[in-house]
Amino acid sequence: MHKIGILGGSFDPIHCGHIAIATSALEECGLEKVLLMPTKNQPFKVGKHVADEMDRLNMVKKAAEENDGLLGSSCEIDYGGISYTYNTLKELEKTYKDGKFYFILGTDAFISLETWYMGKELLSSTPFILAVRPGYKESERKVAVEKYRQKYNADITVLNNPILYISSTEIRERVEKGESISELVPKGVEEYIVEHGLYKKEN
Ligand code: NAP
Repeated sequence: MHKIGILGGSFDPIHCGHIAIATSALEECGLEKVLLMPTKNQPFKVGKHVADEMDRLNMVKKAAEENDGLLGSSCEIDYGGISYTYNTLKELEKTYKDGKFYFILGTDAFISLETWYMGKELLSSTPFILAVRPGYKESERKVAVEKYRQKYNADITVLNNPILYISSTEIRERVEKGESISELVPKGVEEYIVEHGLYKKEN
């Protein structure tokens, strides 16, 4: 069985915080690789404006090139429609017949897991790797971990990931203001943003 992690997200753009949780999961959980998978349409964010999916995918691929064990995945973009994680995992099982999948996610996504499409089935069947940020919704997170373990016998690994206070929103705002983002995103991602004029204020 190949142990494969999946880190899904809008990745608008992908940043060093995402890379830090993917690489921590890779090392701490002994994963063979982590797929960085941009969503086509995140179910809770349908209608929200995001950068073009090919730009988000290309940036993810640039970031993956700089980090061993990480790979960009177009699975949800190719699958189309709304990106329900349950369906994504079913699709991946067809491609990686000998794969065991671990879904990596942060606190906000984790807390809402029970309300996802087929969330209860996901919690009973998929191992989750939870990235944390000390002080951030800590008590809510602990309650959710306990509840999911008791109700669904959920397999949850809590990561000891480095904390990077970076958000995609901050990066987009900095680009719009002409400020540097070189400390916040991998080099190839910064170059891609500049080259394609992403996140600039429209005149
Ligand atoms: P996102 O906002 O783009 O973020 C991607 C992940 O990175 C999140 O888990 C987020 O944690 C984490 N993250 C961002 N910045 C971080 C930092 N500085 N340090 C540590 N962690 C950081 O993604 P999303 O919209 O929450 O979606 C995550 C995945 O869940 C996607 O694959 C999406 O399709 C899936 N999802 C599925 C359903 C469904 O099937 N019904 C519903 C919702 C989401 P936080 O969660 O803490 O922000």
